Amino acid sequence: MWRNLRVAFLLLLLGIAAYSNWYDRLSTTDWDETLWIGVFPIAADDNPATANWLARLSQDDVIDIEKFLNAEAKRHGVMIGRPVRVDLYPLVTEKPPEIDPDSGLLSRAMSSLRLRLYARRNSHPAGRAPPQIRVFVLFHDPAFTQSVPHSVGLQKGLVGLVHAFAEDDMTPTNNVVIAHEILHTLGASDKYDAATLEPFYPAGYAEPDRQPLVPQVLTEIMAGRYVVAPGKFEMPDSLRDVRVGTATALEIRWPQP
Ligand SMILES: [Zn+2]
Repeated sequence: MWRNLRVAFLLLLLGIAAYSNWYDRLSTTDWDETLWIGVFPIAADDNPATANWLARLSQDDVIDIEKFLNAEAKRHGVMIGRPVRVDLYPLVTEKPPEIDPDSGLLSRAMSSLRLRLYARRNSHPAGRAPPQIRVFVLFHDPAFTQSVPHSVGLQKGLVGLVHAFAEDDMTPTNNVVIAHEILHTLGASDKYDAATLEPFYPAGYAEPDRQPLVPQVLTEIMAGRYVVAPGKFEMPDSLRDVRVGTATALEIRWPQP
């Protein structure tokens, strides 16, 4: 009797989780009303320079992400006026859990659960309604950190964790990474070879029909890099040089024009 009850309870929990993931996926990719995305800044270190820089961070610093996503949504046939809205939220003081994408399945599942709980605790600042997609951005002082851990975007939980640099010059490239992780939360997959970083052809090319094919000049957002010469790939300077390719558009359920 107890055993049956326990099994029934577990099945109920699994059912609720499956339903809520399915509902999240549908409600964030139906594109019939504005999708609300929140960017939550966090200081990755205790340097005063990082704190000063964060104090100057404003809505203007994330507006390019909204402009990029809305322009691309329109190009891919989304009919509403403002498909996404990207808002900067107040500073979050609690540090997010570490996520190691190379760890085992169970440890990845546990860390993604920890990130979901973290997102729930930290996405309701006083006087502000929580957004549908939560992107936490850890800003590192570039004087002390040359390379940062991998950023992640989880569709289950609609939460992203981005590592970025606390410097004005880096804002355009920070925004490329933030946009990439936002699209992961909507169900887009990476379109590059994880070992070589080479964009997949044709899905990872912004202009797969370009003649000659190489060099490309624009970057597909989920490839993250563009081919400048055979075997040579570079990151874009800003979202102005980035596009959402057809394969990515299909994954996030943008209608095709
Ligand atoms: Zn990715």
